[in-house]
Amino acid sequence: MKFSNLTLKFQLSTWQRHQHPNHPYPATWRLSALELRASLRPGSFAGRATRWSCSNGAMKLGAPGSTLLREVMGYRDFPFVTRPGRNRDPRRFPGHREVLLYLKDFAREFGIEEMVRFETEVVKVGILENGKWEVRSKKTTSFDNENNETCNHDNEFVNRSEVEIYDAVVVCNGHYTEPRIADNIPGINLWPGKQIHSHSYRVPEPFTDQVVIVIGSSASAFDICRDIAGVAKEVHVASRSVADETYTKQPGYDNLWLHSMIDSAHEDGTVVFRNGKVVLVDVILHCTGYKYHLPFVETEGIVTLDDNRLGPLYKHIFPPALAPWLSFIGIPWKVIPFPLFELQSKWVAGILSGRITLPSQEEMMDDIMAFYSTLEVSGIPKRYTHLMGDSLFEYSNWLATQCGCEEYEEWRKQMYYATAKNRIPRPETYRDEWDDHDLVPEAHEDFVKYTSKQKS
Ligand SMILES: Cc1cc2nc3c(=O)[nH]c(=O)nc-3n(C[C@H](O)[C@H](O)[C@H](O)COP(=O)(O)OP(=O)(O)OC[C@H]3O[C@@H](n4cnc5c(N)ncnc54)[C@H](O)[C@@H]3O)c2cc1C
Repeated sequence: MKFSNLTLKFQLSTWQRHQHPNHPYPATWRLSALELRASLRPGSFAGRATRWSCSNGAMKLGAPGSTLLREVMGYRDFPFVTRPGRNRDPRRFPGHREVLLYLKDFAREFGIEEMVRFETEVVKVGILENGKWEVRSKKTTSFDNENNETCNHDNEFVNRSEVEIYDAVVVCNGHYTEPRIADNIPGINLWPGKQIHSHSYRVPEPFTDQVVIVIGSSASAFDICRDIAGVAKEVHVASRSVADETYTKQPGYDNLWLHSMIDSAHEDGTVVFRNGKVVLVDVILHCTGYKYHLPFVETEGIVTLDDNRLGPLYKHIFPPALAPWLSFIGIPWKVIPFPLFELQSKWVAGILSGRITLPSQEEMMDDIMAFYSTLEVSGIPKRYTHLMGDSLFEYSNWLATQCGCEEYEEWRKQMYYATAKNRIPRPETYRDEWDDHDLVPEAHEDFVKYTSKQKS
């Protein structure tokens, strides 16, 4: 990709928010994996401190595996095929170590690492009067002290804060680091048990013999409640998507129940569900998702965050008033992340290089307003603005067309839906048993096409 007369910041780094001294989250929510183990079962996991540097709580070593098939998950420019090597995981739902290795392979193939400034936190992206962007960053090495100084080779402290001016900024800082919690439970402040978020979840052992409530019924809750049920005394899943009277034992388990939402929590350690059941509980595990968190982006109120709606954003990417000089990649959720963000990036690159033209500011605003009204008419809450769900393929194909790429392959779509369908009757084994064998050769035919195109 070449940009003439244009400096462009692709914001990527290995900054880890949990290490940040000024983390805005209350202390109870900042339990690291080790602290969590210590607080639940003192000393029981001293030898298992392994921590994967991915930002996703459940996407850790020890977690059950990826939630998407490798064929579906991979970038189109770099298919996620099995690779030779002793430590490689050939399964179709590979473990997260394999996903990490795949991303490393991808980075190596496309020379990404040399474009990344590691251990650098962007602390401010602010608009200047001339329309350019001031980007302030600082080194976040382990030598950091409160004065934002870093030790140099001579053991002297030097201030490593840096300010640079850019024409365009593409924000891709992820949105699986800032936990969203169910904080509106009456009595929760007096309830004496432990509370954690799925972001801090690593392995089930700390929950051995405990009575656990898992709040949520999406992907993390689905995996984690089953993981924990193997060791816990009881696991109670609280879901807001079921009727108030719901109380059902989950097939295949003696100790896993699905309830309606929590009604109240009490000082004596009990929790009452809307279905009237009362349970004495040790731990509440919030599998309640994440919030967008962009404290460093300063747009003088042009881009706002309201109940997890980041906007206004044309096609979830460009704020019309600042387009194309500010854009956001990776905002949609319930998606196939890698190939979708690949298409979003291609679109942004095409626009910044002048190959693709955006509609006028007014047309983009009209499009956003029409989209907001559709959500409102359908009764979809603001917090689901960037939830893709059923519109994923329509959105992806729209982007593909804009970029002059082929639309998503039929096999990718069918495999994606087949997994969702398969998970219902086979919650424990859907990663090992599937019925879409016939689609695999089709996928591989396309993989060969993509990779040979790159070589030629
Ligand atoms: C439990 C769980 C399981 C998942 N399983 C799968 C799966 O099986 N398959 C799949 O494809 N996807 C899966 N996902 C989704 C996938 O992990 C994400 O969609 C993907 O990581 C998003 O990539 P990203 O680059 O947008 O963000 P991230 O991967 O979060 O990367 C953002 C980067 O920006 C850095 N950053 C943030 N703020 C700053 C700043 N101020 N300055 C500098 N750097 C900063 C972060 O340190 C990080 O390196 C899962 C997600 C979760 C939560």
